[in-house]
Amino acid sequence: MLLPRFEYHRPARLDEALAILAQHQGQAAVLAGGTDLLVGMKHKLMKPAHVVGLEALEGFGQIQEQEGMLLLGPMLTASALAGEPGVRARATALALGAGVLGSPQVRNRATVGGNVCNARPAADMCVPLLALGATALLQSAHGAREVPLSEFFLGPGRTVRTPGELLCGVKLPAGGPGVGSGYQKLGLRQALEIALVNVAAFVALEDDGQTVKTARVALGAVAPTPILSPGAEAALTGQVISEELIRQAAQAAAADARPIDDHRGSADFRRQEVLVLTRRALQQAWQAARQD
Ligand SMILES: Cc1cc2nc3c(=O)[nH]c(=O)nc-3n(C[C@H](O)[C@H](O)[C@H](O)COP(=O)(O)OP(=O)(O)OC[C@H]3O[C@@H](n4cnc5c(N)ncnc54)[C@H](O)[C@@H]3O)c2cc1C
Repeated sequence: MLLPRFEYHRPARLDEALAILAQHQGQAAVLAGGTDLLVGMKHKLMKPAHVVGLEALEGFGQIQEQEGMLLLGPMLTASALAGEPGVRARATALALGAGVLGSPQVRNRATVGGNVCNARPAADMCVPLLALGATALLQSAHGAREVPLSEFFLGPGRTVRTPGELLCGVKLPAGGPGVGSGYQKLGLRQALEIALVNVAAFVALEDDGQTVKTARVALGAVAPTPILSPGAEAALTGQVISEELIRQAAQAAAADARPIDDHRGSADFRRQEVLVLTRRALQQAWQAARQD
């Protein structure tokens, strides 16, 4: 299968990249690792006249920590995120999600920016990032804006990003003492599998080490976008954490899921799996929060 013809741009500076996107708005596609874009182009699902490669942009593959926040460059690969000790310790759910994305070959190319902008409902990095309270950092030739991931996704493959905007990073609170997160994925196979259901959980405990200060549960593949469960958050916040509380929160998450029947699984089965995976993800998060 051949790629359609296109003009390739390899900007070395951000302003250059943004100027190219502004000039060819609607006709230019951004290329990160290419594991979604090039597949789509080969299947003729998209035929951009211009392709803008990000690999030469400085800082796009870096992780920084500033004032309690982790700043992830959009070109960080799933392999890099899964293996980075700082991410494993301070954004555990993301490292776990990145570590089970696709196969080793795919993980070596697939980037966090590509996963977020591709906006699939079961995306292995989007669901953890949503639970971790991440924000998308967007920039265009006309300025910059920050969009919480909870407002970023509009539907399968659709986001609030405009064609002239580049995702220049993802920002999330860096975990510390009393904070933990977890990630669970169910697929039909062990590897190279888009999740049938995936769940990420985040828990921050008060200084007493028992009361939940903040909690978020994110669900994948049970709605047109990754979603947060308001029911689980309400069930957990302000309560003393326990196995029973986790069970109640998992039930609330299952009630918030909006799965549909499809060729890979029934809605009932998916809802049941949300219950099981939420319980496990919350147990992981609780355990991690206790360890600090
Ligand atoms: C065999 C195979 C298995 C896979 N398995 C999984 C899986 O298990 N879980 C999973 O979540 N995904 C999976 N994927 C999908 C894919 O690997 C991921 O979505 C990956 O993270 C995409 O990143 P990329 O760098 O390859 O993106 P690209 O293909 O380069 O880009 C994806 C989209 O995002 C846009 N884009 C990329 N970066 C930016 C940016 N910085 N600013 C603006 N727009 C941008 C591109 O224009 C394109 O529309 C799989 C893909 C393949 C081919």
